[in-house]
Amino acid sequence: METADVVIVGGGIVGSSIAYHLTEAGCAKVLVVERETHQGKGSTGKSMGGVRAQFATPVNIQMSLYSIPFYASFDERLGHPAGYKPQGYLFVATSERHLEYLRTNQEKQKALGLTTARMVSGDEITSRFPQLRADDVVGGSFCSTDGFVDPYSAMVGFMTRAAESGARLWRNAEVTAIHADSRGVTSVETTRGPVATRTVVNAAGPWAAQVAKLAGVDLPVEPLRRMLVPTEPFDQFPHTAPMIIDMSNGFHFRPESLGFLLAWNDPEETPGFKTDFEPGFIEKVLTRAAGRVPCFENLAVNPKRAWAGLYEMTPDHHPILGPVAAVPGLFLANGFSGHGVMHAPATGKILSDLIVHKKCDLVDARLLALDRYREGRLIEETAVL
Ligand SMILES: Cc1cc2nc3c(=O)[nH]c(=O)nc-3n(C[C@H](O)[C@H](O)[C@H](O)COP(=O)(O)OP(=O)(O)OC[C@H]3O[C@@H](n4cnc5c(N)ncnc54)[C@H](O)[C@@H]3O)c2cc1C
Repeated sequence: METADVVIVGGGIVGSSIAYHLTEAGCAKVLVVERETHQGKGSTGKSMGGVRAQFATPVNIQMSLYSIPFYASFDERLGHPAGYKPQGYLFVATSERHLEYLRTNQEKQKALGLTTARMVSGDEITSRFPQLRADDVVGGSFCSTDGFVDPYSAMVGFMTRAAESGARLWRNAEVTAIHADSRGVTSVETTRGPVATRTVVNAAGPWAAQVAKLAGVDLPVEPLRRMLVPTEPFDQFPHTAPMIIDMSNGFHFRPESLGFLLAWNDPEETPGFKTDFEPGFIEKVLTRAAGRVPCFENLAVNPKRAWAGLYEMTPDHHPILGPVAAVPGLFLANGFSGHGVMHAPATGKILSDLIVHKKCDLVDARLLALDRYREGRLIEETAVL
């Protein structure tokens, strides 16, 4: 029978980062099992690639404070581009309540060591971006080290480097069972045969609850559709712009290629494995786009280029990371609630530390443990896009 020290279920950006961090920590007998013929067919290939440290909870901020500098030095460290563009995130507030919220968050971010975030006035926003409708803008916050990465490229970089250090990737192989004895995990069944292992990591993205079920674990992770609309080339708004978030309704956009990538989280969306793009979404997002950026009235969009993907939502919008007490040897890296790309480096480090050293210094891992739901220790993150 095949053997591995660690089997990682899922070869998206999270599984790949864990494989990389494990091999860096000296654990070379790592096997990543991916059921698709190619990596990136899950959420990773559908992502908007935004990375930010402007969060409301310490644990999310800490994960970004590891991940963003990691992305900034990715090319150097891994010899592969992550495509990090530090163009920033600009939150645009249209009410005093939102402005106060940004201010409070920024105090937390600064207390944890973020030096690149600052509050901006309404005048500064409108003088930098006169294309924005500004009559209701009261100010905002900007962080210059926030920005975007290329999720697919980062995923390939992590996996390539892990493979160079001994990790293996099985494509076109699905994990169909997880076996355990009284001491914990013993093996997994895959469509390519069984693998004996004492450690399994669930990195199955939106399918994480199904994989957890294979070990008899109930995991509160639900898929939720998110849609993105890329525009045709458009030069009436600067391509050096940050991710801009209109806090009045959640519409956000960023430059992409010669055009822009438009996003809005439809509050009417319901959980489920829906990956079809809903054509009616185009009008919804364009209405909000033109409402904040009047020249976006002239945007051209080819509906065939728009796409949908799945967020992996948890009840408190925080990931579920670390060991499962009831099944020794089973680890979770799930439920990123829209932040799995930006938090993939930190997740790799946390999981590798927990597996290899049984402890982790980056964050208080107990906060993110599955047990928090049973014990009623939820952590609410309100800065979810
Ligand atoms: C439209 C959209 C926009 C987003 N924007 C952002 C953003 O701006 N910033 C950000 O940080 N995040 C963003 N996200 C979220 C981010 O993409 C995800 O959180 C992240 O990609 C999760 O990575 P993953 O590796 O856990 O999951 P995935 O990439 O889904 O990988 C999981 C893999 O597991 C495999 N798998 C599942 N079951 C099995 C099995 N039984 N056996 C073997 N393999 C299995 C799947 O085939 C898949 O390849 C966005 C997501 C969407 C959909």
